[in-house]
Amino acid sequence: MAQPFENDEPFVYRLNDNGSGPSLLVRVCTDRGWRIYQGYTGGDEKWNLWWRTSAFPATSYKALGDWQFMNHIPKGGSICRKDSLSRLLRCMRRIYGSIYDFSPPCFHLPLEYAKLVSECSRLRRGDDAASSSVVWIHKPVAQSQGRGIFLFRSVCDMRCGSPAVVQRYIERPLLIAGYKFDLRLYVCVPGYRPLTAYMYAEGLARFGTDKYTLTDIHNPYRHLTNSSLNKTGPRYAECKDRIGSGCKWTLKQVRRALVGRWGAVEWLVWQRIRALVTLTLLAQAAGTPPARNCFEFYGFDVLLDDTLKPWLIEVNLSPALAADCEADVIVKQPMLHELFDLLGLPMKHTGLSLLQGPPTPHITSYSSEDESGATKPPSRAANGHRRGARRVRRRRAMPIHCVNLQAPTLDKCSVSDLTEKSKDVQTGRLYKSSSEISCEGLESHSTPNVALSSADPVEETWRGGYATAASRRRMLTACSWGNGVRWDRGVGRVGQWVRIYPHATPKDDQLSIEDARESVAHVSKFLRATREVAREGGRDKSAPRDGSRDAFLEAALRKKLEYGSSFEVWLPPF
Ligand code: ADP
Repeated sequence: MAQPFENDEPFVYRLNDNGSGPSLLVRVCTDRGWRIYQGYTGGDEKWNLWWRTSAFPATSYKALGDWQFMNHIPKGGSICRKDSLSRLLRCMRRIYGSIYDFSPPCFHLPLEYAKLVSECSRLRRGDDAASSSVVWIHKPVAQSQGRGIFLFRSVCDMRCGSPAVVQRYIERPLLIAGYKFDLRLYVCVPGYRPLTAYMYAEGLARFGTDKYTLTDIHNPYRHLTNSSLNKTGPRYAECKDRIGSGCKWTLKQVRRALVGRWGAVEWLVWQRIRALVTLTLLAQAAGTPPARNCFEFYGFDVLLDDTLKPWLIEVNLSPALAADCEADVIVKQPMLHELFDLLGLPMKHTGLSLLQGPPTPHITSYSSEDESGATKPPSRAANGHRRGARRVRRRRAMPIHCVNLQAPTLDKCSVSDLTEKSKDVQTGRLYKSSSEISCEGLESHSTPNVALSSADPVEETWRGGYATAASRRRMLTACSWGNGVRWDRGVGRVGQWVRIYPHATPKDDQLSIEDARESVAHVSKFLRATREVAREGGRDKSAPRDGSRDAFLEAALRKKLEYGSSFEVWLPPF
């Protein structure tokens, strides 16, 4: 079992199983004053954050201490395999209908080969030329980075091998200067039970490096937008028409390219993307046990077609964190810093001291809001980064949704003491419902067993919602991290991380929603409201076709949804 830290030891990060990891991640951890874990050869369990590219063995979650965090959630990767993603979405579509219509029709090979053949012949018999020459894309399920992918029109041209999915190819993607692109969006899920999800406002667009045409379906640089592939293409370094050299843009650049032509529809597409991401997460939420101090950091790949409809292409469990070009650094470096801010991980801090010491009767915002109340992303320089040659080490205050907790204890009295004290230190939404946390609930905080794995005898009980007091307790425990973050009362925004679900935090006396039907209904209501707002906003032909229109549409959406101030609009910067 993990050993507790001595007070005032540095915050330690552990990378994979051998200490190697993505360059930007290492840079950001170092920037934050964290120390790399030294115990890869065994024995030492003293680490605070373990970042692993692949999933953790189920046993790792059980040994997790209050002061330890891991970048995966048990069973949080079901949406990251091409075949299981398609199965989950298919199932949701059957239940909830066309709201789940954002994933291209898909067949699983070898199981559904006969179905694919009959669909192809049905289309061939079709009257119009377009349906008779439909393009399909064949993708091996266990591969990534475009490996093993090919396009075909007839099943006779299909090479069968390892298990794969065959998807309808989106034949008319939105192009910029004739180049196909897809969007990479960063999503953080600190909990599935109930679902809490944040999406980063900035992201990347990845371009193919040869102009798009359907007359040549065998050239991967025209059709696949993976940057790992296009980096090796003959025209990668060339200065391409409007796109420039390389193959990546930021979302800000994409918005600027689209807004003039599409007006309010451009605003609407980002709202549809938010809904698509939420609906995808909801598809696996019910199959994910409550887990504490664990989060998922996903990369969602979304393709826009020429009507600006977003299509989900895939979800990545460990999105690339390399710095290949300027756009990567612009987007990923602040994104990682703000991810750790969001999670309440320290800037320059210590391990257990994060959790020890008397509760401070004051919560300082670092903040997404400055003293004047104006929203601004936290400034790196203001937080103790290198200034000239000298590193100024200033302790970074915790984000507003984090408070200092006492050291974990099994003593019931001190736990209730803490509950009382934490009531005093509340300035925001976080601990207002701390009375809901019973002594038993907090007691289970201090036990290292944070995830109820499938081997757990109570496994089945987490499937049943909050019908019983025990399940409510488990939910509250999973929502309350060891560093004091309460996700069921989480803030709407930290830096550019915007909470996309729940849309608004529940009232103090209410529990979060976990019912999938209700959650999908919320997303549906959200989508209806965004469509109306875009339609009404689009009628005004004199409205500015730039970023100043965002504030107007945002205000209209807030008014329509009546969620109150805890609702945040997600939108890439302009
Ligand atoms: P990988 O995991 O190998 O990256 P993806 O599913 O992301 O596989 O597909 C790779 C690329 O192929 C995507 O980035 C996208 O450009 C293109 N692509 C994948 N599926 C489709 C589709 N159904 N329609 C159009 N393009 C697609």
